[in-house]
Amino acid sequence: MIGAGPIGLEAARAALRRAHEVQLFEAGGVAESVRRWGDIRMFSPFGLNGSPEAFAQLERQGFQLPPPESILTGAEYADAFLEPLAETLTGIIRTNSPVLAVTRAGLNKEDYILDPRRASVPFSLLVREGERESIVQADVVLDCSGNFQNPRPLGIGGIPAPGERAAQAAIRYGAFHPPEVDGFRVLVVGAGHSAATMLCGLAAQRPAKLFWAVRKPVADHPYARIPDDPLPERDQLLARANALARSSTVQLLAPAGIRSLSTTGEGLEVALSVNGRLVTVVVDRIFAATGFRPDLGLTRELQVQTCWATEGAHKLAALLLGEAGGDCLKAPTAGAETLSHPEPGFYTLGMKSYGRRSDFLIRTGLEQVQNVLDAVERA
Ligand SMILES: Cc1cc2nc3c(=O)[nH]c(=O)nc-3n(C[C@H](O)[C@H](O)[C@H](O)COP(=O)(O)OP(=O)(O)OC[C@H]3O[C@@H](n4cnc5c(N)ncnc54)[C@H](O)[C@@H]3O)c2cc1C
Repeated sequence: MIGAGPIGLEAARAALRRAHEVQLFEAGGVAESVRRWGDIRMFSPFGLNGSPEAFAQLERQGFQLPPPESILTGAEYADAFLEPLAETLTGIIRTNSPVLAVTRAGLNKEDYILDPRRASVPFSLLVREGERESIVQADVVLDCSGNFQNPRPLGIGGIPAPGERAAQAAIRYGAFHPPEVDGFRVLVVGAGHSAATMLCGLAAQRPAKLFWAVRKPVADHPYARIPDDPLPERDQLLARANALARSSTVQLLAPAGIRSLSTTGEGLEVALSVNGRLVTVVVDRIFAATGFRPDLGLTRELQVQTCWATEGAHKLAALLLGEAGGDCLKAPTAGAETLSHPEPGFYTLGMKSYGRRSDFLIRTGLEQVQNVLDAVERA
């Protein structure tokens, strides 16, 4: 298994219960990605963020879990649940051990095309631990490595804008609680939940200017709220962001694309196309909430099929087609088949299985784990 996030940990726990021999490799520490957005409050209640079996197992072992309805921050979730879960997997998890590449021992990608004979050859994983690199073999690989380590760049069309690389020191990518920005000129880019979180956090401080660049045309209310949203935390966030968009605190730039960045004596000059016009703003910091994309290089030597649009698992992407960012609680149940690839024994689970889509929920990944382990046992 690759990745000790919520889904990799659950996959390891469940596979062990089914008496499989398991190794879980994690690039950083346990719950590395969740900890990176540790200050942010989750929108799903704790009871949805772990499996009933894992909760029962931890309680049996004497761990005190938060009430199911509690809304935790990422760090609280990691402390109260993911770390204790990892403790039950001692000897299974190897932290600070990134998987650098995966292949089949002795087979190239182009060997045995769509041929079941590939299944008779074990997987080979190149793993780095400290200075040492080694090959580890496995019969089945579950890629639960998420997307969080690959934020998308700022430029128009999804590539870096000219000057973006040179301006890295002033740009923060991803999702996090914004640091102190009193007196700063700030630009937020993006229109997802992370952008809303960032915007609300920044507006609560006293930035000298707060710009918000959104790629698509924006109506009165940038965020469509879900009627009677079963996740009230999510609804409150979107309502606050909508109110900010109409307030004088935020200068909304939409529809906007970032054409270039350059550092001048005045600060970071950002040239944008806004509704067809060239607009230039000068800022001190950019917060890029432009989403994430999976690392496809990890499995490049396998016969893996991803969606040409979302980069999610191909069959799952087809199933999700048309469900453009609505209520993620209503995501269809994905059978193991949708998480499989032409490469036998290889599955993409968790956030990575959704590719660039932002509507993945931990609860969905927990179902994936059970479905995939059932399929592995049937094979
Ligand atoms: C701000 C924010 C708030 C969120 N709130 C919610 C919420 O309320 N409810 C919800 O359901 N979801 C929420 N999500 C989505 C949530 O992050 C995911 O649902 C969840 O973390 C996905 O779990 P995962 O295990 O698939 O991936 P991750 O949590 O990203 O874990 C992947 C792990 O793999 C490791 N890894 C990556 N590459 C390698 C490699 N090559 N080798 C070894 N290890 C590797 C990473 O270090 C990481 O630890 C939120 C996301 C963000 C950004």
